[in-house]
This record gives sequence, C-alpha cells and structure tokens, in this order.
Amino acid sequence: MSKPPAASVAEVKTVVVDGLGLAKTIRAELATQVQDEIEAGGRAPCLAVVLVGDDPASLSYIKGKRRACERVHMTSVEHRLPESTSQRELLSLIDSLNRDDAVDGILVQLPLPKGISPEAVAEATDPAKDADGIHPLNAGKLVAGTADLVPCTPLGIMAVLDHHEVPLEGAHAVVIGRSDIVGKPVAFLLQQRNATVTMCHSRTRNLADVCRKADVLVAAVGRPRIVKADWIRPGAVVMDVGVTEVDGALVGDVDFDAAQGIASLITPSRRGIGPMTITMLLRNTLYAYRARRNS
Ligand code: NAP
Repeated sequence: MSKPPAASVAEVKTVVVDGLGLAKTIRAELATQVQDEIEAGGRAPCLAVVLVGDDPASLSYIKGKRRACERVHMTSVEHRLPESTSQRELLSLIDSLNRDDAVDGILVQLPLPKGISPEAVAEATDPAKDADGIHPLNAGKLVAGTADLVPCTPLGIMAVLDHHEVPLEGAHAVVIGRSDIVGKPVAFLLQQRNATVTMCHSRTRNLADVCRKADVLVAAVGRPRIVKADWIRPGAVVMDVGVTEVDGALVGDVDFDAAQGIASLITPSRRGIGPMTITMLLRNTLYAYRARRNS
C-alpha cells in the first residue's frame, strides 16, 4: 500500500506582515496622546538624536526618526558630530543632554566610529532618558522583568506578534543572534510571555535543525538569506530583523521568497520590523517624558 502523501508545505497560507501599516496605526494613537499632553499645558516631548560621522545609512535613519517625531508632534533635536570626535567629547555632549530639562529621550545612532565604545555611551546616558533601553540598569530591569525602557526593535517585534495574536505561551521560540540591542532583549521578552526560548549565535551547532523546531523564529543576524526554506517548520511564524544591502537592495536574513507557503506569518525586509522600530522609539520617548514629569 502506498503511503499517503505528506502534508504539502504549499498548504500553508503565508501572511506577510504590513509593518508600515501597523506602525502608522500606532503612531496615530501616539500623536493623539502627545496632542493631549500639549493641550493639557505640557510642552512637546523631545528626542535628542546624536550622530557621529556621516555614514549614509545612519544619515537616512536619523532623517526617518526626525520625520517620525514631527508627525506625532514631538520635538527632535539633532546633534551631528564629525567622525574625528573623541569618546570624551561625545560623553560630554551626552552629559549636557542628560542635564537638559527640555530633553526627554536620547538616542546615539549606531554604529559608532572606531575608538568610541558603545558600552561607554550606554553607561553615560541617563537611564531615565535612555530611549533605546541600552543602559545597564534598563538591561538589568529587563532581565528582572521590571523594565520600563526596552530596546525598540524587540518591542516592535513583540507588537507585531501581538497584533497578529501569535500564541506565545508554551511556544518554542528560536532567536538567532544575541546582540544587546536585538537578540538578547527579544529572547527575554519572549520568555516573559512564557515562550520556551532557544538563543542561537555564530557558534551554535546544527543551526538549521534548531530553527526547524521553532514555532516562532526570530532572525537577527545580518547575514543575507542565511535562513533557508528548509530551516522553517511549516506553519512557523518568522520575524526577520536582518537588513543587509546587497547590490543596492535591502535583503533580510530569511530567504523571503522561498519561505512563502511555508511560514504562516513573515515580516518582509522592507516595511516590516524597520517602521515598528522607529515607532517604538517614539513610544519610549513619550514614556520617558511622562515618567520624568511625574517623578
Ligand atoms: P550584531 O550585533 O552584529 O549581532 C549579530 C548576531 O548574529 C550575533 O549574536 C552573532 O553571533 C550572530 N551571528 C552572526 N553570524 C552568524 C551565523 N552564521 N550563524 C548564527 N548566528 C550568527 O547585529 P544586530 O545589531 O543584532 O543586528 C542584526 C541584524 O538586524 C542586522 O542586519 C541589523 O542591520 C538588523 N537590524 C535591523 C533593525 C530594524 O529596525 N529593522 C534594527 C536593528 C538591527 P555572535 O554573538 O556569536 O557573534
């Protein structure tokens, strides 16, 4: 007797996340909340963005952040420093932003030039104004499950999962990447939602096999299309954080086209997690503004 055909991977209907659409919805809510604060007599929340050097991608990111602030009626102040800036000069600027009562959130755009330690920058930032949740105090609170300011990209990923009502309780979540800004914090957030989390990195053995066990797969590696179709369990939810420029196009960590018909939900490399990250930056800035006003 011939075996019945195995469930075809083509049976899975893949939903592509509209990260930009979701971001716009959340930003409209944030704009209303900011407007309410201003109408109640407050000033607009203010985000200070610091860029050292003139990396074209970073320039485009800070432009996007400025526009996003304007659209939700927040103020944004840009500080552009030359590539030759020393760590001492940068820390001195951060110190003045920490002490400036008109500034609610501070974001230092990464990557930083050689010779400037991102850890020193994180430690120098006032934890109450730490718009990307990178200060060791905020990172520690995240581990303890008491965080207020959490890195923006992981917050954006969680917002996408919640919007699509992805069940996390008891789910096996596999996170590829263990950076302080994406991999580690998203792993803790998933664990706090009672997912069983496996964290992978460059030394993980049999990465494909580990990924195939995931109900929810988060790829935050920065290696274009490292996640192949046969790394994805049919029906799995795939959050692709990676963005790498290849021949002028932005490519994710996941082979997006090949994942169609296998993943049940997937983020595209453009208009996926990116707009959600900026939206969570606005959310964190508003949070910091309110917390500082009420303290
Ligand atoms: P990162 O600091 O470079 O970390 C990359 C992680 O990937 C590391 O933990 C590294 O492992 C791991 N890795 C590298 N090669 C690997 C391999 N072959 N197999 C398994 N793991 C491997 O990067 P990041 O800041 O987390 O960012 C990751 C990606 O997300 C980048 O493409 C970045 O541009 C993108 N990103 C996008 C957004 C957005 O808003 N869309 C925001 C932030 C980042 P080790 O720890 O062992 O070195």
